[in-house]
Amino acid sequence: MDKKEISRLGSEKIKAKRQRFIALLGGKCGCGKIAKDVYVYAKDVYETAWMPAKGLYGHPWEQMEARADDYYLSCSMCHTIKVGRAIEHGGGSQGRVGCKCDPCRLKRNEHGRMMSKKIRDDARLLRELRKEGRI
Ligand SMILES: [Zn+2]
Ligand SMILES: [Zn+2]
Repeated sequence: MDKKEISRLGSEKIKAKRQRFIALLGGKCGCGKIAKDVYVYAKDVYETAWMPAKGLYGHPWEQMEARADDYYLSCSMCHTIKVGRAIEHGGGSQGRVGCKCDPCRLKRNEHGRMMSKKIRDDARLLRELRKEGRI
């Protein structure tokens, strides 16, 4: 068996394991998407979980099975929404995307003020440097 054959068999094995894991997790996203549209994500255990991208499928099936509770299935869209919702109202750099509640609006305004202050400060610095003939 040459190297290529070994790595082909390796990735086949990983693919099979991934399919099996997805089936174990119920096989579909909450919104109903299935098969190639769903991905395995780790729950809030990023420090301890084997990440699906690297490591998870390299473990023996028994170990993966034992830790199935640490993972969930989702399509990428639902995942994006879920991660977006994980930001608290008024949290993050600009609150929740598109949210109109007071804490989020305040946060966004603050962010806007900070950005325009930065632009003003930069402009002032530029003017001063020009006046001094440094640029
Ligand atoms: Zn979904
Ligand atoms: Zn909000």
